[in-house]
Amino acid sequence: MKHSASLVVLVVLLSLALVPPGLARQETPACETPELQVVATIGMIADVVRNIAGTCVDVIQLMGSGVDPHLYRASEGDVLTLLDANVVFYGGLDLEARLAEVFERMGDYKPTVAVGEAIPEEKLLRDPVYNLPDPHVWMDVELWMHATERIRDALIELDPAHETLYQENTDAYLEELKALDDYVHEQIERVPRRQRVLVTAHDAFAYFGRAYDIEVFAPQGITTTSEAGVEDIRKTIQIIVERNVPAVFIESSVPPDIVEAIVEGAAAQGQEVRIGGQLFSDAMGEDGTPEGTYIGMIRHNVVTIVSALLGEDVDE
Ligand SMILES: [Zn+2]
Repeated sequence: MKHSASLVVLVVLLSLALVPPGLARQETPACETPELQVVATIGMIADVVRNIAGTCVDVIQLMGSGVDPHLYRASEGDVLTLLDANVVFYGGLDLEARLAEVFERMGDYKPTVAVGEAIPEEKLLRDPVYNLPDPHVWMDVELWMHATERIRDALIELDPAHETLYQENTDAYLEELKALDDYVHEQIERVPRRQRVLVTAHDAFAYFGRAYDIEVFAPQGITTTSEAGVEDIRKTIQIIVERNVPAVFIESSVPPDIVEAIVEGAAAQGQEVRIGGQLFSDAMGEDGTPEGTYIGMIRHNVVTIVSALLGEDVDE
């Protein structure tokens, strides 16, 4: 008995000696059960919330992969979900055009946070025709860091007991976003400037184009609620012919017919242009895939664009 007791002491002492100093530090405790019920509209926002708050929140994402936020209408079930939530995060800047009224009314009695509106005014792009702000701010990783900080601040305000955890997780995530931003710059720079032309159906990539120095053309404008006009499509085809653009891109949340019409129209003028792949513009990929995260969707887009424009494979 005495022998086995001293053996236990020895084992305990040994195991203490073996713990590396980093692990002996008290980790900020995560939550055993969610403290907050959070509703997020698009996946890109839900993903940031999950990265910051982990098990401390239950995140309900209204719009899954392939869903177009410009056209999305709230179902009866969505309204009940929104009523139950402690906080609602949405893109704002008229991204979820058909939910704006619901969020406005809800804002009277619970926090509703338009994360796109955390972007400094002078950094927002505006539609040249209607002078409306462009809501696709996640396409510039640096701008999305502002949205990330806005989400962090709202979570801390609602659940101050976990401030340290939210702060640490945000710091770590911002580091990842900085690395992602560097990666996008490096990859796009591999394409000679004259070849840097990105053609999609709807104009979701203006921030991407400005941040990473690539020209973007899209006949449909900044929202899918408007149709692409024949004249807009004709102009896009003209650019493809003049610039000898090798590839155009479809989007996971937009029907491919406009891009297919562009390919056919260019072919009719003797310009062969192919569909270079599918990009994630306003929705992430399927849950459980790399593209089902914000970082993964941006990396996928960059790899798809660069490899199609250069006609080569790129390491992800
Ligand atoms: Zn859009």
